[in-house]
Amino acid sequence: MSRYFAPTTAAEAAALLAEHGGARVVAGGTDLVVAARGGKHRMPEVLIAIHGATDLASLVENEDGVRLGALTSHAWIERSPLIGSHWSALADASALVGSPATRANGTLGGNLMNASPAMDTGAPLLVFEADVELLSLRGTRTVPVADLLAGAGRTTAEPDELLTSVRLPDLPPATGSAYVRLEHRRAMEIAVVGAAALVTLGDDGRVADCRVALSAAAPTCVRAREAEDLLRGLRPDGASFRDAAALATGAVQPITDVRASARYRRAMISVVVSRALAVAAARAAGTDIAVPANRNLPTVTAGSTG
Ligand SMILES: Cc1cc2nc3c(=O)[nH]c(=O)nc-3n(C[C@H](O)[C@H](O)[C@H](O)COP(=O)(O)OP(=O)(O)OC[C@H]3O[C@@H](n4cnc5c(N)ncnc54)[C@H](O)[C@@H]3O)c2cc1C
Repeated sequence: MSRYFAPTTAAEAAALLAEHGGARVVAGGTDLVVAARGGKHRMPEVLIAIHGATDLASLVENEDGVRLGALTSHAWIERSPLIGSHWSALADASALVGSPATRANGTLGGNLMNASPAMDTGAPLLVFEADVELLSLRGTRTVPVADLLAGAGRTTAEPDELLTSVRLPDLPPATGSAYVRLEHRRAMEIAVVGAAALVTLGDDGRVADCRVALSAAAPTCVRAREAEDLLRGLRPDGASFRDAAALATGAVQPITDVRASARYRRAMISVVVSRALAVAAARAAGTDIAVPANRNLPTVTAGSTG
C-alpha cells in the first residue's frame, strides 16, 4: 500500500524526502500520475504531494530578475503580464502546454524535473540562462538549467533534492525572445520540434547578442551555439535568420518516433529556429506580438525584421 504525505512547507517536504528513500514528489501530477495511470510505470510507494507547500508558489522580484516558485503553474505564466513582456519565450511555451486543464495543474518545476526532451519550458529557460534552487537537508544549491538537464527523463538533482524555484535573470534593453514549436494540432499536443530564441539589438540596429535553444531534437534541450555565433553583428533580417537556422541543425541528432522521422525533424528545425528568431527580433524592436508566438507569427521577408 502506498504512503501519502502532504507537507505544507518546502523544508517539511525536503525532510520527508530524506526520511523516505525512493519517495517521489508530486506537484500537479500531470506527468507522474498520468504516466502511472497509463501503465508507463508503477505508482511510487511513497508520494510527497507538495501542492499545499505555499512557500513553493511565490514570486520574488529583485534587481537580478525574478524568482518563480516551483509550483508556478503554466496557466499563471501564460497570463502574467510581467513574464509576457520580459521573458516572452517562457510565456509562449507555457501557453502551448496541453489544454487549459493541463496548464492549470501542471507546474514549471514539474516540467523541468520530468525532463522530457520535448518539454516546452526547457529551451526558453536555456536562452535566458536561468538557474534553479535545489533544497535538501544538506542545504540549498543553485544549478544552471543547462547543468540540471542530463538526458531524456534525467536530471542532475539527487533523489532527495526538491526543486524550490527557478530564477529568470534580468535582460538588457532592446532584448526580445520567443518560443515556437511545430505541432500537428493546436491542443493536447507535444512538440515535434521546438526552438527558443533571444535577440538583443545594438544601437546600430544589428544583432548585438543572440541565443538559440532547441527542444524535441536531442535527448534533452540544447543550445545551438553555431547559429548564435553566426548571427551576432548581422542585420536582423529573413536572410540572416535562415542562414543561422540552417546551422542550428548541426547542434542536434533528432530521432525517429511516432510523431516524426529524424529527416523531417531535421528539416523542420531550421523552420522553427528561423520563426523564433524573427519574433524575438521583432519584439526586441518593440513590435507587440501576442503570446503565444506560435499562433501570431509575422510574415518574414529578406531585408525585414518581420
Ligand atoms: C494531456 C497532457 C498534455 C501535455 N502537454 C504538454 C505540452 O504540450 N508540453 C509540455 O512541456 N508538457 C506537456 N505535458 C506534460 C506536463 O503537463 C508538464 O510537464 C507539467 O509541467 C508537469 O508538471 P506537474 O506539476 O504536473 O509535474 P508532476 O507530474 O507532479 O511531476 C513530474 C516529475 O517532476 C517531479 N517533480 C515535480 N515537482 C518537483 C519539485 N518541485 N522538485 C523535485 N521534483 C519534482 C516529480 O517527482 C515527477 O518526477 C502534458 C501532459 C498531459 C497529461
